[in-house]
Amino acid sequence: MAKKVTQPKVNPVAGHLNALAVGVKEFVKPTRFTIQYPRERRWVIDRFRGFMINDVEKCISCFQCAWACPVNAIFMYRAPNGKYYPGIRYEQCILCHFCVDACPVGSLQGTTISDGAFPDLESTVFKPEDMHNLPQWDDEAEYVVKYDFDENGNLKIIKMRKSEVK
Ligand code: SF4
Ligand code: SF4
Repeated sequence: MAKKVTQPKVNPVAGHLNALAVGVKEFVKPTRFTIQYPRERRWVIDRFRGFMINDVEKCISCFQCAWACPVNAIFMYRAPNGKYYPGIRYEQCILCHFCVDACPVGSLQGTTISDGAFPDLESTVFKPEDMHNLPQWDDEAEYVVKYDFDENGNLKIIKMRKSEVK
């Protein structure tokens, strides 16, 4: 015979008071914080791994970057001068920067930009000529937000105007 399931008794007054208490507690001493993206953006370290750029003047066409890529996101394209230069398929790329580390002449460089939006799959394919400059990017953020912790381990939010960030 099936056991009868009884619903637990709910005290709506206690529930509301509890919700209010959580709200007040979070207001006084927040444990989480929502960044108002894209008007605000998160601060990232200089070594943050984002999209790559390549200086073809320095590139020696050695293929090391393509061999280092663990997901085969790098394709080498033949240029009119007979050399091969890398292009990246960002729909495959996992932004690991193994290619940047493998480049023996430092022509392939990482940037901290990683949140570009692509209108379609085709535009995620960056050919060598697309890799000369930073990706086109509309940055609407006025503020940069940094998470930190005080000496007691409490979350500390530092909000800076973008112009103040070095
Ligand atoms: S960052 Fe990593 S995944 Fe992306 S192209 Fe370079 S090696 Fe490949
Ligand atoms: S590893 Fe560097 S030098 Fe070699 S092909 Fe790639 S970008 Fe060019």
